[in-house]
Formats: sequence, C-alpha cells, structure tokens
Amino acid sequence: MIESAQTMHLARFPRVKLCHAPTPLEFMPNLTKALGGPQLWIKRDDCTGVAMGGNKNRKLEYLMGEALAQGATHIVTQGAVQSNHVRQTAAVCAKLGLKCTVALEHRVDTNSVEYLDGGNVLLDHLLGINIEYRAGGTDMQAAIEDIGAKLTAGGEKTYLIPGGGSNPVGALGYVHVALELLAQANEIGLRIDRLVHATGSAGTQAGLVAGFEALNAGIRVLGIGVRNPKDRQEATVHKLAEATAARLGVASIRREAVEANCDYVGAGYGQPTPGMVEAVTMFARTEAIFLDPVYSGKGAAGLIDLIRKGYFTAEENVVFLHTGGQVGLFAYRDALVPTG
Ligand SMILES: *Cc1c(COP(=O)(O)O)cnc(C)c1O
Repeated sequence: MIESAQTMHLARFPRVKLCHAPTPLEFMPNLTKALGGPQLWIKRDDCTGVAMGGNKNRKLEYLMGEALAQGATHIVTQGAVQSNHVRQTAAVCAKLGLKCTVALEHRVDTNSVEYLDGGNVLLDHLLGINIEYRAGGTDMQAAIEDIGAKLTAGGEKTYLIPGGGSNPVGALGYVHVALELLAQANEIGLRIDRLVHATGSAGTQAGLVAGFEALNAGIRVLGIGVRNPKDRQEATVHKLAEATAARLGVASIRREAVEANCDYVGAGYGQPTPGMVEAVTMFARTEAIFLDPVYSGKGAAGLIDLIRKGYFTAEENVVFLHTGGQVGLFAYRDALVPTG
C-alpha cells in the first residue's frame, strides 16, 4: 500500500500535479530598505496557478492524489465565507471533473455585501459548486461529515477534506515546498535564516517544519497566528507535524521547532487590524505585491512589527512565505481604502 511509504521520497505518495511550481523566490530590495534590514525575501506561493493561486493548491496536489486513488466522485470541504481553501478546492474539482459541495461558516459577523457575495464567494459561484451556509460557531467538521454521509447514502463516492486541507496528507504539500525552497536557496547561494508566514489551520507550518527537520535545514520557521492563541496554535502545529513525520517515516519533531506568535490577530479571525492595513499598503507601494486581509496581511504585520522591535539582525536572511489570498481584498474594501 502507498500509505505505508516510510520515506522522504515524496514521489511515493499519490499526487496530482496542479501547481505552477517552483514558485519564484525573490529579493525585496525596496521593503528591505524601507525597514532598514533584515534582508527580506519572498517565496511567491500566491503564484501557484490554478484559480489565482495560494497555499491550498500545494496541499490539494496530495489530497486530490489520494481522492483520485480512492475513486472519489464528490469532494466535500468547509471554511469561512471568504475561504481561500474553498475557492481553490472548488477550482481543482472543476479541473478534475469532480463534484464539490462546501459548507461556509458565517465566522465573521458582517453585513457587508462585498464580504458576503464578492471576492472568493463570487469565484465559488462561477466555479459551479454546491454551497451550504452554517451559523458562526458551528462544528464545521461535523457539518461536512453530515453532508458527506448524505451524499454517500445517495450513491456518491465522497472524499472529505478538513478545513484548510490541514491533515497529514495535505501537509505533504508543504514538505514538498521545504524541499523546493531549500533547492532554490542552494542554487543561488542564499543562506536562509528564518521563514515567516501566516498560520491558521496549521498544515502549512506543520509541513514546512516536518520537511526542514527531516532535512536538518537549520531554517527557523515562525508562524504568525490569525485565529487561535499561541499555546493552542503551537500545540496544533506540533501535533500535525508529528503526524506528518510519522507518515513520512522520519524522526519525531522537536517541540522547540514549532514557534508561533499570535500577537497580531486583533479582535479575531478575519477582523481587520491597523497593522494589516499598513502591511498590505506597504507591500503594494514598495514591491507591487498584494497581500490579503485575513492571512498574509496579518503575517506581514507581525513581520514588520518584529523587525521594528529588533527581533532580527540586519544581516539575517528572512523569507516571507506569501500564502496567497488576494481575492479576499475585494471582500474588504471598507477596511482598506479611506471612505468619504
Ligand atoms: C489558509 C491560508 C493560510 C494559512 O495556512 P494554514 O495551512 O491553514 O495554516 C495562510 N494564508 C492564506 C492566504 C490562506 O488562505
């Protein structure tokens, strides 16, 4: 069985090639100058292709590999109303000819028409998936299990993807990125000291940490939280990194290898903060790179604030992993542009 593959040899796991990859690793000279160091690089996982890109496409390569290996006909997943994960899953289903049903949680309390119907939701509709809405605070995993059970009873071969695609299969997508990034850095002679990115459902960080630990890369990963408090976020990432390492058959993950800073969440998931608005504006005006309001904007707000607090030395090479999500900008116009 493929599941018993005990190796960092990722090609032993089923995968559907979906992403435009390797994604670029670029220096950000203007932002580096504006902030007075460290040396700031960016890994452009906003450019993974399919349906305007983002980090979920990485996970979906392995999740869809497993779904197709199991003969799935119908994919079921969930997220917040403006979920990038749902949009990317819907797109991949369209591409692979699979049916798709999603549950969207009203996790952000708002009446904004742009939030409720624009941005990712607009694209979800164009992609032609079935959408079911749930109230904020619903147990969304239970919700998709319910939906899945009904579809199975109706004769569908369903495959459930947890929120954010974050399980040991999806996390393989970011083990893959750990290998890809290290190869790029070695090729251009770049010593990466730190990698910083937004962390939510934890699959991105878990995969990166599992990959870097197995490779003994010496690259410290810092996740900037967008939802949960630090203790909980680190525990979730560590648990998933361990499960991912077990799947790969590599050594277990040091607890110290998992670092999250959750000081930049603000009032809650998907709630704008002044730091997010500053980060989105600053990246746009210095490097012409668009971040997003829910994830990468808060991740970059953390990065910028930590730079100002002297957390990094000027000589350090810090890579910001751009996880995508720009479609969400169109759902947050009110927070991003001056009104009146
Ligand atoms: C989902 C998402 C993240 C968080 O990744 P996780 O693997 O869920 O931690 C970061 N940025 C964007 C744009 C996302 O859509």
